[in-house]
Amino acid sequence: MNKVISIVIPLYNEEETLPVLYDRLTQSLNTDFFFCNYQIIFVNDGSTDKTYSILQEYAYSDTGVTVINFSRNFGHMVAITAGLDYAMGDYVVMMDGDLQDQPEDLIVMYKKLQEGYDVVYSQRLEKQFSWWKKYSSRAFLWVLKWILNEQVEMSTTVFRMMRKKVVDQVVKLREGQRYVIGIIGWVGFKHTSVPLKHAAREYGETKYSFLQQIALAIDTICSFSTYPLKLITRLGFLCMLGSFVFSFYIIFQYFYYASPVPGWASLILAIIFIGGLQVFSIGILGEYLGRSYMEIKQRPLYVVDQVINGPERRDKFYKEKKRKWL
Ligand code: UDP
Ligand code: MG
Repeated sequence: MNKVISIVIPLYNEEETLPVLYDRLTQSLNTDFFFCNYQIIFVNDGSTDKTYSILQEYAYSDTGVTVINFSRNFGHMVAITAGLDYAMGDYVVMMDGDLQDQPEDLIVMYKKLQEGYDVVYSQRLEKQFSWWKKYSSRAFLWVLKWILNEQVEMSTTVFRMMRKKVVDQVVKLREGQRYVIGIIGWVGFKHTSVPLKHAAREYGETKYSFLQQIALAIDTICSFSTYPLKLITRLGFLCMLGSFVFSFYIIFQYFYYASPVPGWASLILAIIFIGGLQVFSIGILGEYLGRSYMEIKQRPLYVVDQVINGPERRDKFYKEKKRKWL
């Protein structure tokens, strides 16, 4: 029986890129992967442009295209998760739909995978983002590495190829705040990387604004580690120690030089500092409390409006044991 390769692509308002993406992707799948059947899973993450109608056309003319249409925008990571839920390939790829990840590189990843690895991710030679994004994401990765103690495989782009056994484990982790790349690192198996080019975004705009980037960073750190909680405990302790030492200094000054320490400025400073520290600490506690609350609700990660070329076809295929099903 032929092997199957699944390609998971989240899409949010990508009408301009989509036709080019589809052409280049099918071109590469039909030539480089002629020995595989393909399943391209497009997840339409509540696009407000023509993305969905273009996808419908593809799915009706090409049974190798599965379309999952969300009921609204659920976010990049959740869209990828949905795609993984529906992926049935022996090899599963996740990539962005803006052509910053190149379909022609799939075969490079595949060859590396055949050397006996379970996950191959792309190591960017030079990220084609604005200088601001490049440096902020570098700083973000640095903080993550430091906080998470390097337990997690780090690479900001999602482009990677995995074996089915990895995906089977990844989809079992259903936490709401998801950083899929971190989850893939967490489940383990044999990882490796290949150096690949990162293309600049030619069509449309990035969907991650500055604030969303910060939100993703906080999300990731808080959902993968309780280090910030430890950090504030330590900070609090340090402040206490500091004020203790300072009070000794004041007493010393008072008795030795008979001079009361002058100035309200230092007083205000201390108050502001401690006040800030407290609010900061409460904020961090709140982040965790909020997360626990959201997880306890056990809501589904996403709501699907429609699936075209979904699992019914797969079940039928397995029942009839057809060789070519796509
Ligand atoms: N995306 C999505 N939902 C969102 C935001 C983005 O599915 O809410 C998709 C988007 O269409 C693209 C991928 O996620 O295929 C990566 O987004 P983008 O290129 O804007 O991020 P960047 O590469 O700038 O980090
Ligand atoms: Mg992009």
